[in-house]
Amino acid sequence: MKAITVIPGKAGSLSLREVDAPAPRAGELLLRVQRVGVCGTDMDIVSGFYGEAPPSSPYLIIGHESLSRVEAVGSSVEGFHAGDLVVPTVRRDCPEECLNCSNGESDMCLTGHYREHGIKGLHGFASQLSATDARFVVKLPETLSETGVLLEPLTVVEKGIIQAFEMQKARMKWKPKTALVLGSGPVGLLATALLRLRGLEVATVARKPADSLKARLATSTGAKYIDVNDAPLSSMEKRFDFVLEATGSTSVALEAQNLCDTNGVVSFVGIYRSQEASEDAGKVFTNLVLGNRVYFGSVNANISYFRQGAADLAKIKDRFGTLLEQIITDRVPLSEWERAYLGKGQDSVKTVLQF
Ligand code: BGC
Repeated sequence: MKAITVIPGKAGSLSLREVDAPAPRAGELLLRVQRVGVCGTDMDIVSGFYGEAPPSSPYLIIGHESLSRVEAVGSSVEGFHAGDLVVPTVRRDCPEECLNCSNGESDMCLTGHYREHGIKGLHGFASQLSATDARFVVKLPETLSETGVLLEPLTVVEKGIIQAFEMQKARMKWKPKTALVLGSGPVGLLATALLRLRGLEVATVARKPADSLKARLATSTGAKYIDVNDAPLSSMEKRFDFVLEATGSTSVALEAQNLCDTNGVVSFVGIYRSQEASEDAGKVFTNLVLGNRVYFGSVNANISYFRQGAADLAKIKDRFGTLLEQIITDRVPLSEWERAYLGKGQDSVKTVLQF
């Protein structure tokens, strides 16, 4: 079968190779991959910054955002049938079976020895067939056969939002009305849609003009869109109950905490590169304390967020028309696979490879 691979750590090693198809073991599903999304993590792996091959393999099959159909069911698997539309989670438990991994929370793994399909120690889904543990697979309704590949990026914000709301509920009476989303990439737009589903008044802030596709997609959910070129974050007077930072920019992350209201919460889901501090650290911590705020980071998502995400993806489709279809701006056939990893055009949002 054909698979898209890299030699981890080696820039320029991306290639389409012929590899042996996997055979499902007991407890596993064999998946016929339909679509694979490309994100910043994939681009970092392709550039050689990130990624780890499985122990016995010289290469890593990439791809962790995926949508498949069940091809075959391994022995002792129940509840799945050939043809089911499914999405596997990314992360698998650490061998030490830490407190969190052994309780279904591999996204909160304590040892750091977890494995991730297409990223760390396990082959990914950018191949015609793949096999994975059935306990980490969710079923999707047929209405999501075109857009279900957006479930994995959605789960990243699903977790960032659910955890924020749970923490707030545990510490006081909290009736959030307003949310700020920083970033209008796929994650920022999916966060905007999820927060609108929760009935919040949402402002989505990014660097694109108001007539750009990303801005139009944000406003199609009823959110307000703000172009920072017109109104810099530092001049914003409004404060928000919930802030979700999805740009991955260190300077924006520093601004984000200034925009959080008293008793509010900020969820960070980006990867931030070191930068000279442009904000007084004393002021950051004083804001945190005097405002009773919570700032927290969130990575990955366990299957509970995939289950909730599958239900929410269906609701987003019902409520916001073709938003999901429009987020997938670039559909690349496998015959032109290289194009999917070339970087993005002006109005591109999400690139998806069609197998
Ligand atoms: C994936 C996560 C993963 C993280 C770090 C992200 O792109 O969505 O599932 O945990 O990369 O490897």
